[in-house]
Amino acid sequence: MTRKLFVTTALPYANAAFHIGHMMEYIQADIWVRFQRMQRDNGAAREVHFVGADDTHGTPIMIAAEKEGITPQEFVAKIAAGRAQYLDGFHIAFDNWYSTDSPENVELSQGIYRKLRDAGLIQTKTVDRFFDPVKGMFLADRNIKGECPKCGAKDQYGDNCEVCGAAYQPTDLVNPFSVFTNATPVLKPSEQYFFKLSDKRCYEFLRDWLNTPGRLQPEMVNKVSEWLGEAGEKLADWDISRDAPYFGIPIPDAPGKYFYVWLDAPVGYLASLKNYFSKKGLDYDAFLRDSNTEQIHFIGKDIVSFHLLFWPAMLKFADHPTIDRMRVAVHGHLTVNNEKMSKSRGTGISPLRYLNLGMNPEWLRYYIAFKLNSKVEDLDFTGEDFVARVNSDLIGKYVNIASRCAGFIAKKFDGKLAASLSDNAQAWIKRALVTAEGVERQANIAANFEAREFGKALREIMEIADITNQYVDENKPWILAKDESKVAELHDVCTTALILFRQLTLLLSPVLPGVAANVAKFLNDEQLVWTDTDVASGVVSSAMLGRTIGAYAHLMTRVDAKMIEDLFDAPSSQPAAAPAVKAEKPAKAKTAPAVAVTETGIEVMAPEITVDDFFKVDLRIAKIVNCEHVEGSDKLLRLTLDAGEGRHRNVFSGIKSMYQPEDLIGKLTVLVANLAPRKMKFGVSEGMVMAASAADEKANPGIYILNPWPGAEPGMRIR
Ligand SMILES: [Zn+2]
Repeated sequence: MTRKLFVTTALPYANAAFHIGHMMEYIQADIWVRFQRMQRDNGAAREVHFVGADDTHGTPIMIAAEKEGITPQEFVAKIAAGRAQYLDGFHIAFDNWYSTDSPENVELSQGIYRKLRDAGLIQTKTVDRFFDPVKGMFLADRNIKGECPKCGAKDQYGDNCEVCGAAYQPTDLVNPFSVFTNATPVLKPSEQYFFKLSDKRCYEFLRDWLNTPGRLQPEMVNKVSEWLGEAGEKLADWDISRDAPYFGIPIPDAPGKYFYVWLDAPVGYLASLKNYFSKKGLDYDAFLRDSNTEQIHFIGKDIVSFHLLFWPAMLKFADHPTIDRMRVAVHGHLTVNNEKMSKSRGTGISPLRYLNLGMNPEWLRYYIAFKLNSKVEDLDFTGEDFVARVNSDLIGKYVNIASRCAGFIAKKFDGKLAASLSDNAQAWIKRALVTAEGVERQANIAANFEAREFGKALREIMEIADITNQYVDENKPWILAKDESKVAELHDVCTTALILFRQLTLLLSPVLPGVAANVAKFLNDEQLVWTDTDVASGVVSSAMLGRTIGAYAHLMTRVDAKMIEDLFDAPSSQPAAAPAVKAEKPAKAKTAPAVAVTETGIEVMAPEITVDDFFKVDLRIAKIVNCEHVEGSDKLLRLTLDAGEGRHRNVFSGIKSMYQPEDLIGKLTVLVANLAPRKMKFGVSEGMVMAASAADEKANPGIYILNPWPGAEPGMRIR
């Protein structure tokens, strides 16, 4: 039997770049995947497929895109384009990186939904939802702000207070308002679709599924079992629908309803696999039906309810073939100096800054791996500990073996290793690679990698390094090299040390793939395979004997402790908004061209144009559906305009000195509608609002926007 593995990490939400916590999860999964790829089952390589994707749907991305004046698709494409520098930078080798906003995901999500509906597990209920009467849309929790019902803090979201941390319902907010229009939301009944997690079948399935040995860490089984209750009475139905407008996947046969982003996000695992298989010409359905296929998800402890209740129950009742061969590997969070990372305290680590400082990505891979175990524990990054661990283990113990012995092979033996080993050398190899109890260490190490006990695996690997260094220290090749009569002994010692060095590299290669590739080249190995062990059943059997090796180039430098100081974000002592405000006006005043003025004091008329010239400018009536201040600008207001196109436009206008945002909302004005979009510091401006100003700005600094007479409607052309 050849194991077939389908491995994923959690899908990152596509509204921001990766942070160091993402990298920790990807490094953990990547090490496990690389270990699996080195394994052979009865001589055949394991089949491993490792896929990821951006999680793209939902309200936060919709709002973020609207703020930038671009479509959600454009917004997530921009985020996706930035992923490779992180993944490549830290040697994370996904086979495929995809998106939940994809045809495969639509098909799979709707297919799962139809099966759940056919199984009688979808139910509709009418519930009251907050509705924005101006924008004409239902509001998600994060679309509503108001005063915290507990502490009275202003400008808090509808789900929790960022000042006192209280969690509440949007209906609890004092003086609630819509973030889109500032209008007071009204309650409106809406029909919603629910997945009936409270159904007895779900409870019975989950109880057995969660308690299957090997499925999940025992501490997670206990935690999730509490959520089920004694007999499933704690399981509540799950609202899987959201009302339009929503960036998501339409619910079949339910006009205006979309799947809540958490329904289609995990389906994105399958969509990415399916997309990858179709690119490779592989059979997706056959792979999932294969009884040797296992499905493994690496996730953080903050998203377990989605992955251990909804996701398996959905898959089960949609007849997903690998549901009984699915496992979930939950990890804790990354802390820095035993605190939650915080930008304001200066304890955040930016993965890109790490790379830009020239820090070796494999240092971080090793450090994270050394601290990881299979439990759901937080992992702490401490600068001093990082420097000490990397320098002591990777440089002092591992690289040191090669750097002390390889040169003699090149200088004294034309790069050729000894053709046979002394009894003493063979005894040392056996002592390094077999425990006192007679167990081959490689088997222990493999079992620990398999069980995600990476720290234990690396400690045992370092024991091999310690014994190897002890061997080198006792035999002192640098002394042997001075005595012509000890040439054979020197050859024996250096060959032995390099045989053990190769073995160490093989064992470390899931963690240090870049170093391992360089070592393979230096030792003239095509590829290091786990089964190329130097001790089998206690007998030394090295393929290295008599081999000619390449020139040794230094493999890795020490961590410079100074780098750690530069690694952390500078603590921000001031509120972020304050310094940016002042800069704009004087700069503008200096560079603004002087305007030519007539005798009557008005600006000189522009040169004559034809009527055709005039008609090149498309002027439209537009309704100001929203208007807000632009953080960091003392000149601009951000207008959301409806020009009758069935979409909204984002336009920046330098009218802040004259108007309060609330005075403009709901008013009509004139838009230059066919002006090329312009990328500004604060986002893209899609057109220009027309406004009048005097030639002599000192005499009359006002800016006056146009307001059509009653009867004009959004979209009407001005001619
Ligand atoms: Zn509060």
